[in-house]
Amino acid sequence: MLGPVILAASRSDRMRRLISAAPVTKQVVDRFIPGESVDDIVPIIRDLTARGLELTMDVVGEDITTPAQAEAARDAYLRLIDRLEDMELGERVEMSVKLSMFGQALDGGHDMALANVRPVVEAAAAIGTTVTLDAEDHTTLDSMFAIHEELRRDFPQTGCVIQAYLFRTEADARRLAAAGSRVRLVKGAYKEPAEVAYQQKHEIDKAYVRILRILMEGEGYPMVGSHDPRLISIAQELAHRAGRKPDEYEFQMLYGIRGDEHLRLAAQGHRMRVYTAYGTDWYGYFMRRLAEKPANLRFFVRSMLSK
Ligand code: FAD
Repeated sequence: MLGPVILAASRSDRMRRLISAAPVTKQVVDRFIPGESVDDIVPIIRDLTARGLELTMDVVGEDITTPAQAEAARDAYLRLIDRLEDMELGERVEMSVKLSMFGQALDGGHDMALANVRPVVEAAAAIGTTVTLDAEDHTTLDSMFAIHEELRRDFPQTGCVIQAYLFRTEADARRLAAAGSRVRLVKGAYKEPAEVAYQQKHEIDKAYVRILRILMEGEGYPMVGSHDPRLISIAQELAHRAGRKPDEYEFQMLYGIRGDEHLRLAAQGHRMRVYTAYGTDWYGYFMRRLAEKPANLRFFVRSMLSK
């Protein structure tokens, strides 16, 4: 029952101020968000890629309130891409972006988000890599899919995320499972109402398998975003049955969660991409990680009490 409470807190400004100012927060946050600046994150990119992992980079931030913040988000990604160019890692390091951080929720936000994300997609393409559009709450998705379609006209490799907990997602998966598409399937991390989303874990897991089958049997490139051991072995089985070779799909997990499994899958010859977040506006991202596993919250509270 704690998960929905934490997710509600993730949207509260008061909680944001309280938690961001807590004296021990930073050391707990570091487990999931291992840096604040490009300089912090470059050594981590070097280390993880040297271990055979691939990465998708997220500059944390969402729920911005001014167009200037949206432009600052764009510029933060451009600075990162500039540094990646020298590292010559190509598609081994791609970008993940949240359109809310590019202005999607502001007045005229759809066009603003498209205008701000396009230069990031262009810069990524120029260094031989790509961008995946993260999925946020369900009210943002029609706009996200329209922006995805628009970007794919010039950059067909642009990826997007779909969430198994939403009733709409099976239909989205059928539409997206076409040649050349790159689709990350996740369970879904936001607090969604029963009118649009499954609420029970077993229902979400069953939907995940149905949707994964659609992606694996389709023509696109499935990206399996989950830490769930059962779903990972089902994904391997579905890929095998669909006749996919190891480089025709990939696994993705979050930095700080099941790190040994990242290395184990990579050592077995799978493509394993680690979603690595960095930046200063970490509150929303961090709270969703707490909501996914209430034991994280207990650890967080214990570390505050022990100070
Ligand atoms: P779960 O059943 O939640 O977890 C399985 C096991 O993984 C748990 O038993 C536990 O051992 C471990 N685990 C999972 N989460 C945690 C945690 N926070 N801390 C510690 N251990 C944990 N959601 C979106 O809505 N939109 C997105 O764009 C999006 N992008 C994502 C990208 C990637 C690469 C990944 C891996 C997830 C993304 N998510 C996104 C989050 C996703 O929706 C889930 O909330 C999250 O992955 C937890 O679900 P799970 O599949 O790992 O299964």
